[in-house]
Amino acid sequence: MTAYDDENIFAKILRGEIPNVTVCEDDDTLCFMDIFPRSDGHCLVIPKTPCRNMLDATPEQLAACMKTVNRVANAAKTAFDADGITLLQFNEAAGGQEVFHLHFHIHPRHEGVPLRPPGQAGDMAAIQKKAEAIRAHL
Ligand code: 5GP
Repeated sequence: MTAYDDENIFAKILRGEIPNVTVCEDDDTLCFMDIFPRSDGHCLVIPKTPCRNMLDATPEQLAACMKTVNRVANAAKTAFDADGITLLQFNEAAGGQEVFHLHFHIHPRHEGVPLRPPGQAGDMAAIQKKAEAIRAHL
């Protein structure tokens, strides 16, 4: 497997080199909003320590992420009165991965509402409000 590259965008977010809209963090994980949201409330959970994806992650990194995913997904479901949650996670380019630091996508879902296509920039004020709504239910 290709080595971890600490110039990836999420590593820069973790180092504070580029801004993010944080939902929550603990010692091991960070949850922040996706700025190209495919759903209202689309956010990402990442480990604070380096790994490319699920394939090279340690059991501890995966467990820490899942703990945060569970907490944030429930908060988002309540915040947006969602009917369900879609959890997405991609591994390597052929698996759909674009940013090579392990991350889990949390998508609040409503019956009959499809995910939007990737790559459409969201409105930052609206994204901030979604983060606040999730935070209020953590
Ligand atoms: P992947 O396809 O690797 O699972 O998804 C990477 C995700 O990172 C995409 O959903 C994309 O919208 C998101 N993303 C890309 N650049 C940035 C950024 O600078 N900030 C944030 N918050 N998300 C980003």
